[in-house]
Amino acid sequence: MLKSTIGLEIHAELRTKTKMFCGCPNDPEERHPNVNTCPVCLAHPGVLPTANAEAIKSVLKLGLAIGGELPTRAKFDRKSYFYPDLPKGYQISQYDEPLVLGGELAGIKIRRVHLEEDTARLSHAADGSGSLIDFNRAGVPLMELVTEPVIHSAEAALNFAKELQLLLRYLGISNAEMENGEMRIEANISMAEEGADSFGTKVEVKNINSFKAVEGAIAYELERQAKAISAGERIVQETRGWDPVGNRTVSQRVKEEAHDYRYMPEPDIPPLDFGAANAIDLAELKTLIPELPWDKRKRFINEYKLEPEQAEFLAADPATADFFEEAASELAADDTSGTKTLFNYLSSDLQGLLNDANLKIDEQDFKITPEKFADLVSLVVKREITSRLAKNVLSEMFKTGLDAHQLISQMGLEEFGGENRLQEIVREAIAKNPKAVEDFKKGKENALQFLTGQVMAKTKGSAKPEEVCSALLKELK
Ligand code: ADP
Ligand code: MG
Ligand code: ZN
Repeated sequence: MLKSTIGLEIHAELRTKTKMFCGCPNDPEERHPNVNTCPVCLAHPGVLPTANAEAIKSVLKLGLAIGGELPTRAKFDRKSYFYPDLPKGYQISQYDEPLVLGGELAGIKIRRVHLEEDTARLSHAADGSGSLIDFNRAGVPLMELVTEPVIHSAEAALNFAKELQLLLRYLGISNAEMENGEMRIEANISMAEEGADSFGTKVEVKNINSFKAVEGAIAYELERQAKAISAGERIVQETRGWDPVGNRTVSQRVKEEAHDYRYMPEPDIPPLDFGAANAIDLAELKTLIPELPWDKRKRFINEYKLEPEQAEFLAADPATADFFEEAASELAADDTSGTKTLFNYLSSDLQGLLNDANLKIDEQDFKITPEKFADLVSLVVKREITSRLAKNVLSEMFKTGLDAHQLISQMGLEEFGGENRLQEIVREAIAKNPKAVEDFKKGKENALQFLTGQVMAKTKGSAKPEEVCSALLKELK
């Protein structure tokens, strides 16, 4: 039996106002190339970098959230290599004294988290006629998180990546959108006989640009290695790239050609001393950490008696979770069935309306307040309106922002719930359908169904079928 081992290296661009070592704006939305630049991030000689405190705080916040150790001393180092997107000839990164050591997320042990700078962005013309370079991204703060080799399946790796993305968003330190490169994943993958006392030779897979690719690339690589090992072949230590079109990994370079980065302490930035009197206040940073996704899930299950999947749905988006809680606070505290109904209307009907309108629950254009939403839900819970009417009212609320009661009377539907108006419609239906009435008296079951249908149609679905039926029976007797 072969055992799979996976370790992840994940980069995320931080959402700071300015770049890592200069005052240029850090603006991933900027569409004009090379406007957010200065001599520092353009790598002019003789310039002086200064470290961005906001970026350092962001990584420390992450360290606190994952329960890592924050050493009292950290420093920056130069990592030397040449590439056109790095004209300095070295990247300022961290080597042996990173900001965060250890920690754990989603059951996976973390080795370290450090801070570095992103490179410029190269685009290559498809016809090979040349390449363009945009320095807006050069020097953007980039954090790198490295896990221990303790992941054993593609699914667990995917779950880890998703939990990290959610955590980065909760902490407000990165958008961590994989599709535009704000979060980038490299997977180290090896296989060895179960019980072997050392790991197998690892392969590093790069160019994993989506969650689909995380699962696809790891699953493919595990299968490739298993096949090779069973065929008696040796795994070569190499870097491979994920080819999302061909759905396979492709060899890029073997380890013999690997770089020696010649790390050396960055002489222009003094080491960070977190023991110093004027250092970043960790106690204050702690107060800036919101309730974390896993705590929120646990609390939602306990407090609102939700199912784990329901809690997960809500915790996946803090704004949705807040909306749910505000609406739930309008219902009676011990009203579990109300909370369940609230969740159902929120996660299916309301979410559907939001999706169709391509709208987020915390956007200005979304007009339903949690109070109004709770009001509608309590009408359903108290069985004052049918679920069919509730859906119609909800979509009107979504368009207008008006409250449920207002809409129900405006739509002229409220009376249909009232008994007098219903009795009137029932009498009308009986008067208009003598044939069905006769059939009913002869004992034909479907005559009653037919009449019920007539009445329901007249009430536009707002009356409850059981009520219509009993009103009909009462009148027919
Ligand atoms: P390198 O020096 O090649 O960068 P490291 O030991 O620093 O290797 O580890 C880099 C990443 O590779 C880490 O995420 C680590 O967990 C993972 N890793 C290390 N050895 C293995 C292995 N044999 N199989 C799978 N992943 C591994
Ligand atoms: Mg590595
Ligand atoms: Zn700059």
